[in-house]
Order: sequence, then C-alpha cells, then structure tokens
Amino acid sequence: LNRRLAGFGTTIFAEMSALAVRTGAVNLGQGFPDEDGPESVREAAVRALRDGRGNQYPPGPGVPELREAITAHQQRWYGVALDPDTDVLVTAGATEAVAAALLALVEPGDEVIALEPYYDSYAACIAMAGGTRVPVTLRPRDGAYHLDLDELRDAITPRTRLLLLNTPHNPTGTVLTRAELSAIAQLAVERDLLVVTDEVYEHLVYDGEHVPLASLPGMRERTATISSSGKTFALTGWKVGWVTGSREMVAAVRSAKQFLTYVSAGPFQYAIAEALALPDTYYEALRTEMRARRDLLADGLAAAGFGVYRPAGTYFVTTDIRPLGGTADGFAFCRELPERAGVVAVPNAAFYDDRTAGAPFVRFAFCKRREVLSEAVRRLKGLA
Ligand code: PMP
Ligand code: GLN
Repeated sequence: LNRRLAGFGTTIFAEMSALAVRTGAVNLGQGFPDEDGPESVREAAVRALRDGRGNQYPPGPGVPELREAITAHQQRWYGVALDPDTDVLVTAGATEAVAAALLALVEPGDEVIALEPYYDSYAACIAMAGGTRVPVTLRPRDGAYHLDLDELRDAITPRTRLLLLNTPHNPTGTVLTRAELSAIAQLAVERDLLVVTDEVYEHLVYDGEHVPLASLPGMRERTATISSSGKTFALTGWKVGWVTGSREMVAAVRSAKQFLTYVSAGPFQYAIAEALALPDTYYEALRTEMRARRDLLADGLAAAGFGVYRPAGTYFVTTDIRPLGGTADGFAFCRELPERAGVVAVPNAAFYDDRTAGAPFVRFAFCKRREVLSEAVRRLKGLA
C-alpha cells in the first residue's frame, strides 16, 4: 500500500457493521435503512432488466432518462436550470462522485478545505488526489454544531484550490443556513476557489431548509454539486449518484469518472429516473417519518443520559458520552457498547484529524424502523 493511503486503515463503517454482525447487536452505526425504498421503484428496475434496458454499457454520462430526471428535480425543488446533455453526470453513488471530482479538480500540493468532522472518504480521496487536507472544525455549542466563518476565512491560503462542503452535514446533522452559504459563496468568489458540495441528505431536513450552494449568485460556474439516490429513496445498495454543475465542471469530473468505472450500472438508472419523478407527497412523507424517528431516538438518548445534539438534517444523531460518567473515549465506548448494551454506534473521532477533538462524541443512525429504535433506546437506558 502506498504512502498516500497508508494510515487510513479499514473504513469505520465496515468495522462497526462487522461488529454488529458478530455480536448480533442493534446496528445504529453505519447509515443504511432497514426497509427498502418504494416498491414501484424496485419494480421499475426489474422491468428495465427484463426489457433489456441498461444491461449493456449505458452512455458515459448516464442514461438520458435519468439525466433528464435529475435536471427536472433540480428545477422543481430549487429552480436551478441545467442542460441534461452537458451539466449532469451519473456516478456509482456519491462516493464515486466525490472521488472523481477531487481527482479531476485537485493538483498535487493543492490545499483542500473540508468541514470537520468530515465523511471518511473525503480524507482518503483528497490524499489519493495528492492534495493536502485542511480541516475547518464545526464547534459544538448550545446543542448544535456551528461553522465559524472567521476560521474558514483564516484557513484559506494562496495554495487553497477547493472547498469541500457537506450540507446537511454527516455526522453532526448541521444544515448550513442561507446566510452561511452566502458568506461561503462570497469567499469562494473573492479567493477564486472551486467548491465541491455533497448534498446527499438534501431531502432529509427537519428544521430550516436545504439551500443548494449552486443556486447562489456566482456559484454555478465554480461548483460541483453531488447527490445520491441512496438516501432519498432508501436504496443505498444501488449506488446511483450524480454530479451537476456547469458544463466545464461536469466535463472535468467526467474525465476522471470514465477511467474509474467508465459507466455506472444501467437498469438501476432507469428506475431512479422514475423515483425522482415521484410526487411531492413521497418526499413529504419521507421527511415526516424521518423527523418522527429523529425525535424518538434523540429523546430516548437524552433520557438514557447522553448529551444530545438534535440534528436539523441527515439521519444521524451526534451525542456526547461524558454525561454518562464512564469513558470519554468514543472509540473505546463503541467497541464495548455491543457487550454492554447490545447496540452499535460510530465514534465521531473517526471523522477528525485531531482525534482528541472528536473523542467524546458518538453517532447513532435513525434510518431504522421505529420498533428497532425503541428497542435500542430501551437497551441504552441502563448505561448511566
Ligand atoms: N457523502 C455523505 C456525506 C454520506 O453520508 C454518504 C453516505 N453514505 C455518501 C457521501 C456516500 O453516498 P453513496 O452511498 O451514494 O455513495
Ligand atoms: N454514509 C453512511 C454513513 O455515514 C454509510 C456509508 C458507508 O458505509 N460508506 O454511515
């Protein structure tokens, strides 16, 4: 293994899911739903397979039906106009989109600013692209995590090439406000930075609203926006994601994608095209159900003695384990939790450069059936 990747080890999600399988604990670690997405969408994939649509290499940028559906979705929800022929690229999940964007846009030695705690693949992909990661840390205050815009401004140097944003933010659940995003946009224009923004939780916002950075003035030409069907349609195994942006940004990302996977799996693309066109009631029901699950888990964790950061978005709750009175080391806590309580969670320190900063925080996922969440809460009650 080369020096760029040495030190990244095994992703925390694989480690914690393996622990759940080994111990039979309730898995609130890795974020994947325990109920599959809409039956009509799964049927659409079966039909595509049977009808021979997408069984051979689909077009490089993605099948036209899906590119048009992604375009229509951006227009419908955000009023963002895109050309399906040039401004959309279908990827193997948001994970490949992040990798391809960084490989395409970062020169060796460039600095990439990422919000910390950061989704774990960001650090590895910045390293694979030869870039230098510069974390800007979200700080916990008054029950939520906040971005300090002065810290962001101070982190920009002449070597900074790119900002890697994520809103709604995994693992903290923070949703950047329009005012914060406008300030970020202004900085990007002033300092001539590119932005890659990971918006996979765009439809999982419970307080406030999701504002796509690309919808703000001056951002269109310098922003690559990433999303994925995995979260919105509870189909994480299909790995259908996408990048949208200006023709130039998308062409750059496509240059990298063609040599990573060439194209993404065909039949699922037709089915996700149908999913994106589901009526507003689908999206509203998703948000309503997930908000109820957030409240169930957040309230239960608080009652069990955790310090709770109630998320404005995503399907994760970050907690502080110090009020429980035991260890303040989230890694140790998560490794012992299956035995102590029959539950698996993820230590937020896995998402920090400075692991001591993230040490006492632990993330629980609530993309699970309500009875599973209730059972987890019941098991956690004995901890304090
Ligand atoms: N970005 C973030 C912030 C995520 O939480 C995830 C989650 N799984 C991904 C990207 C990857 O998405 P996908 O499964 O579509 O590759
Ligand atoms: N995004 C999910 C999480 O944060 C899982 C993704 C993964 O396993 N790579 O838990």
